[in-house]
Amino acid sequence: MPAITRRTALLSAAAAPASLALPASAQAHDGGGHAMPRARSFTLGEFHVTTLLSGSVPREEPQSIFGMNVSAEDFAQVSEENFIGTDAAQFFFTPTLVDTGSERILFDTGLNAASLEGPLAEAGYAPADITHVVLTHMHGDHIGGMTTEAGELTYTEAAYLTGQVEYDAWAAQENEGFDAKVRPFAERFTFLGDGDAVTSGVTAMAAFGHTPGHMTYMLESGGQQMMLIADLANHYVWSLGYPDWEVRFDMDKAAAAASRRRVLGMLAADRVPMIGYHMPFPAAGFVETRGDGFRYVPVSYQFMG
Ligand SMILES: [Zn+2]
Repeated sequence: MPAITRRTALLSAAAAPASLALPASAQAHDGGGHAMPRARSFTLGEFHVTTLLSGSVPREEPQSIFGMNVSAEDFAQVSEENFIGTDAAQFFFTPTLVDTGSERILFDTGLNAASLEGPLAEAGYAPADITHVVLTHMHGDHIGGMTTEAGELTYTEAAYLTGQVEYDAWAAQENEGFDAKVRPFAERFTFLGDGDAVTSGVTAMAAFGHTPGHMTYMLESGGQQMMLIADLANHYVWSLGYPDWEVRFDMDKAAAAASRRRVLGMLAADRVPMIGYHMPFPAAGFVETRGDGFRYVPVSYQFMG
């Protein structure tokens, strides 16, 4: 292999367009000291869809969360076959903004309000630009950004929507997160059933199990579809490849597995792309069948408009 000369190094640096360089304020770090973007936009017909990275953290002992009902040997074998380790897993938390041209709909609010400020700004939006906030379900990593540190609503101009079954289930019990972030704003919410529209081209679809009323959302514009699967599947290998592997955070494990098989089967058969809240950033990909389960195919250069 020829050595890189000083001259060729200079030439390739000069050839890189200046627009590739992000301002320092728009950069996140991947833990290795490398800057990485936290907003990624996709074009879907007339819609502009942007995934927003609220946070990313490593978690140790992933089998305490995924594959609870399989042996350590099976977990290790599947992980090795898919080029990932078993000591730790990287978790991602990714709300999605859908700009329809007339509405700017934020799906889930991230770990906390501050964590979305940078990604939103990187995509060219301010909190006051959000016209609708949709909560897919009431887990803390999805409702955390509902309020600021002062306890006020983060998205002051927005209408709020969530599933009726989900809201009712959490309202019937005590829960610290729900009681702080959602219940005080109950009168601002509109409640959705299976098949109800958020707006033209944005449809709620029941996928219960992860939580009692967990909902996915189908986007349709210009003859193209994309599904926001939220927490239908929480890991790109263990949950896609093995839908029946039990996940600690699935409140009804059998129902969650049945929802995974039904919805992922539909996405694979119809070749509909998806965005998953916990998929590796930018959290968008395709689903194909593989063996008795599915395989996640991350986006590359599709949807660049
Ligand atoms: Zn989640």
